[in-house]
Amino acid sequence: VGLLTTSRYEYVKAFEQPDILLPNTWIVVRIDGRGFHKLSDHYVFKKPNDLRALDLMNAAAVEVMKDLPDLCIAYGVSDEFSFVFHPSCQLFERRNAKLVTTIVSTFTAHYIHQWGTYFPSTPLQPPYLPSFDGRAVIYPTTRILRDYMSWRQVDCHINNLYNTTFWTMVLQGGMSNTDAEQELKGTVSSDKNEILFKRFGINYNNELEIYKKGSVLYRQYELQTPNSAQTPTEEDTSVPESTQSRSQQDKLRKLRRKAQVVVDHVDIIKDEFWERRPWILS
Ligand code: ATP
Ligand code: ATP
Ligand code: MG
Ligand code: MG
Ligand code: MG
Ligand code: MG
Ligand code: MG
Repeated sequence: VGLLTTSRYEYVKAFEQPDILLPNTWIVVRIDGRGFHKLSDHYVFKKPNDLRALDLMNAAAVEVMKDLPDLCIAYGVSDEFSFVFHPSCQLFERRNAKLVTTIVSTFTAHYIHQWGTYFPSTPLQPPYLPSFDGRAVIYPTTRILRDYMSWRQVDCHINNLYNTTFWTMVLQGGMSNTDAEQELKGTVSSDKNEILFKRFGINYNNELEIYKKGSVLYRQYELQTPNSAQTPTEEDTSVPESTQSRSQQDKLRKLRRKAQVVVDHVDIIKDEFWERRPWILS
């Protein structure tokens, strides 16, 4: 009988493929609810927008941001969330699978943990348990990262205008799903605004911002102490993490951890949002 050691089997480790994401690039991890169309029917989400479901998504995402100080910003709409890591991020040595699975499982854990707070009268029941898929995409420049964020917010706007019009035609106009769908085929934004206003007296502009713009999560350093500067300085943040000293890194991480995570429903396509909060991308 030979000695029981692991060396006989260690060669299997070499079958693992490296999956380190390109250095010095933005990393976006986007997660999306699996089969949420069916799940939202089962738990009777309000159509087209159930505010409880959006608040629950945001609550879970806030916990992810708190748990992972390397995240700079997150954007959520419907059953999806995009989490953004800074180019200097070294978490898990930037290993793709580690980053994606940690985000997905942390988010899912909090989503399920807080379900009862948002849906007290409809407890979770197998097989209708929420799960999420996830992927990481890297973006080489800040311009392209911002275009990614703009893309998601434009998508939110287009889907919400369509869904709001569709469900108003069905629920208030008494139309069948197929008739409403047929009439909306080929219409542009102004047509939908007009249907809402002329037929139902609804001004789309008055819809809730969370529906029209989605949710953007970021760290609000100023909220900590209004006067003394809690915002990381240029010096703190512009140096690549790898060339920062241990103590600098720790200091920055502590600042990030202490900062309040805020949930906003604002335009992130125009420059204003980013110019007013320069620390987010710095
Ligand atoms: P997949 O597994 O491919 O992602 P899916 O059914 O989740 O399939 P999505 O394209 O991700 O499809 O769309 C999510 C669906 O979940 C929406 O179309 C909508 O029906 C429902 N949904 C998500 N969030 C809400 C919400 N807050 N209020 C009402 N319905 C919602
Ligand atoms: P990482 O986040 O890098 O995975 P880790 O602390 O989870 O770090 P692992 O190498 O995954 O480290 O090891 C898991 C550790 O969890 C074990 O070394 C052991 O200490 C503990 N552990 C896991 N399962 C059990 C168990 N059933 N009973 C006792 N301890 C356990
Ligand atoms: Mg999907
Ligand atoms: Mg989905
Ligand atoms: Mg989706
Ligand atoms: Mg472990
Ligand atoms: Mg392990």
